[in-house]
Amino acid sequence: MVQIDLHGGVGEIGGNKFLVIGDVSKILLDFGMSLGLRGQYFSEPFLAPRDQHGMITLGILPDIPDLYRDGADAPLDGVVLSHAHIDHAMCISLLNRKIPVYCGETTLTILRALSEVRQKGFENDLDGIDFKTFRTGDKIDFGKIQLEPVHVDHSIPGSYGFVVHSSSGSIAYSGDFRAHGSKSSLTQDFVAVAGKSQPQLFMCEGTNLVRGDLRTEQEVLEKSDHVVKKTRGLVLANFSTADIDRLRTFHEIAKSNDRILAVSMKQAYLLRALATDKNLEIPDVRSDPHIVVYQRSKKTYYHWEKDILAATKVKTSKDIRETQDKTILASTSYDMNEVLDIKPGPGGAFINSSSEPFNEEMEIDHSRFINWLDHFGLPMYQIHSSGHMMPTELRETIASVRPKRLIPIHTEQPELYRLFINDLAKVELGTLGSTIEV
Ligand SMILES: [Zn+2]
Repeated sequence: MVQIDLHGGVGEIGGNKFLVIGDVSKILLDFGMSLGLRGQYFSEPFLAPRDQHGMITLGILPDIPDLYRDGADAPLDGVVLSHAHIDHAMCISLLNRKIPVYCGETTLTILRALSEVRQKGFENDLDGIDFKTFRTGDKIDFGKIQLEPVHVDHSIPGSYGFVVHSSSGSIAYSGDFRAHGSKSSLTQDFVAVAGKSQPQLFMCEGTNLVRGDLRTEQEVLEKSDHVVKKTRGLVLANFSTADIDRLRTFHEIAKSNDRILAVSMKQAYLLRALATDKNLEIPDVRSDPHIVVYQRSKKTYYHWEKDILAATKVKTSKDIRETQDKTILASTSYDMNEVLDIKPGPGGAFINSSSEPFNEEMEIDHSRFINWLDHFGLPMYQIHSSGHMMPTELRETIASVRPKRLIPIHTEQPELYRLFINDLAKVELGTLGSTIEV
């Protein structure tokens, strides 16, 4: 018999941690940080966690003996990552180094590059981790459990879903996925493999059940292109560092509007790391005529920053101020001090191309950010295509996979999920810390 301990990712968005316990082996599907729970207790920089012990006591991390860095023997056979987003992967920094971490090759490249550019600390430390990479078509044996990774499309490259073959039948795990992205055929491949395995159980994400917005990447391109065409001044564009599809979209828009896309040093570092992966069709940050790197003004630069500044074409706030009508500046709400230096002239625009706020903390950040835009006289356009399945896509997917049972994961509204699809599969609502028998 196989059982699954739900250590995170049920009744919440992110924090996925699903321990699959087979007859002779155990694997953990994702080891993400529950940002919601963590945010209930901690707020950087004044109140930050010191180590895993406090977070275990507070119930932010599961209390599994020997799971963490100070553990003796490995209590499980592997941690398997679906993709590199922090709500799926961040906790590997805390992991007992005797436990191998399995992930896709692109995920490993992203994890390493982002770890390099983020502040070091016990929650960002990949030293000594025994990484093992997989690709679609592989089957990895863990005792009587066999893991079959299959690529999916999501808002970060190199994402996977899994089919776990076990003595109790197969279990499908969606990770995070979408069917309306530019590489939806990847998701179709996963759905086909999952359906063919006639799963007993489907652990399926439902992030967008309460805010469906069917916009494709192509529509993001067309709408943003329209805004940029009509804008005479500086265009600021906010999108996630690792959302390579979106970066490609704004690069296209820059080209067709005779502008230059100025990316952050972080983005440039990641782009360079991913450049060797030909499948990703990434513009070359060192030689592309429509990409430059924005140099934040600061007294000293980290080693990786010096490295990227030396290897690329660089623009400062003064350069951007003089070429506002020729620039799309990739910028987040944390870059507003830089925008003060740039001094946007009249007629500019801010395109918000990441998800809208969906919790209280994000609302507070958002209203603070609006103060900045008001100060600069920059109107905001919300133009985004989600990394997650839309409700209609979920129903189609579940109808194709035809699981006997389904556990909603990565959603704050699992009850809604039950009503929405209970004609397609028997829905079970798992609670945090509970166990599901397969
Ligand atoms: Zn994700």
